[in-house]
Amino acid sequence: MTKAIYAGSFDPFTMGHLNILERASKMFEEIIVAIGTNTSKQALFTPEEKLEMITEVIEESALENVRVILHTDGLTVDLARREEATVMLRGIRSVTDMEYEMNIASMNKTQAPDIESVFLMADEQYRFVSSSLIKEIAQFDGDVSRMVPKTISEKMKEKYKKM
Ligand code: ADP
Repeated sequence: MTKAIYAGSFDPFTMGHLNILERASKMFEEIIVAIGTNTSKQALFTPEEKLEMITEVIEESALENVRVILHTDGLTVDLARREEATVMLRGIRSVTDMEYEMNIASMNKTQAPDIESVFLMADEQYRFVSSSLIKEIAQFDGDVSRMVPKTISEKMKEKYKKM
């Protein structure tokens, strides 16, 4: 009966993110996808656009215990407390991810010792999938259809056309 927060910038949401959610949805009572903004990364989509897109993907994937919300302000552990979640869910693709995630998890522990970070390893076929590489390919009209859900690749095409 554990609730988990899956926080990220999801710019855009990828098949790797979806794979983590599909696997974790069998492990937790509820997963709350918290869309944040990463100030060190230039965002392609606004938080509101992401909310709409990810909600659509979750509906299409019939993930009934997954909810999507915006969290653009404040600490993620405070959000977890408000939502009565006790787990911070994160995905790990590489040793570099691991180092980064360990730092975040340790910092979160200092703020909220009662909240645990839980890591799922990226499935092999999604280990190379990253939002930033997807943006690099899509901006030059490359094919990202195997790396992002269909709804997302369509929205990306529209976005780059307008730019
Ligand atoms: P952030 O900017 O907070 O790192 P991201 O949207 O890049 O947000 O990632 C959110 C979470 O999903 C992170 O834990 C990240 O490691 C994980 N993640 C990203 N891509 C993948 C993938 N292809 N497979 C598994 N986990 C992933």
